[in-house]
Amino acid sequence: MVMNSLLNQQVLVLNRLWQAVNVCSVRRALTLLFAGHAEVVQNDSQGSFHTFSFKQWRDLSEQQPHAEGIRSVSLRICIPRVILLALFDRMPKKEVKFTRHNIFERDKDTCQYCGRQFDRKELNLDHVIPRDHGGPTNWENIVCSCVKCNTRKANRTPHGAGMRLIQRPKRPKWRPFVQINVQNGYHQSWRHFIDIAYWNVEIGEDISN
Ligand SMILES: [Zn+2]
Repeated sequence: MVMNSLLNQQVLVLNRLWQAVNVCSVRRALTLLFAGHAEVVQNDSQGSFHTFSFKQWRDLSEQQPHAEGIRSVSLRICIPRVILLALFDRMPKKEVKFTRHNIFERDKDTCQYCGRQFDRKELNLDHVIPRDHGGPTNWENIVCSCVKCNTRKANRTPHGAGMRLIQRPKRPKWRPFVQINVQNGYHQSWRHFIDIAYWNVEIGEDISN
């Protein structure tokens, strides 16, 4: 039981750029570590970060009998708190959610017809191909548009209105995206990476719509 609850604790996952991208269970982290797909990240007493392969971590674990760890007959291993992925594609990619907020993010608050940047409250979401012409509501057919352009375009296609999009709307590529509920608390060793993530990472789903 104790073993299980340890294995279900959360580990912070960093990508190769040392950006926090996810959390996973200790169980999953150990699997990645054992397979050589990730290394453990730990800081020393001077605050420098070091990485450890499975073998190095196992050896280190033997020397730290008091740290929280998992023990079997032949193996004792400390709980990793942060791991660094060896490759980008070892964790499932998260799709960027199709939300108002993320559309504004993708279009950088810029009207996709006149190319000018606006306050969000002055921008509309426009169906490029209007809905009653069969235009779907998706990444490829919704863009930011200023009130002026939106009024001018009215219920027409860009071609019909003699207007052009400044770029073709696309589904945004997946980006490092932290979805960690900090309110639940986290291991102190995450702090360095969470603080960085706070400034660098797209604001999450809590602000959607
Ligand atoms: Zn405009």
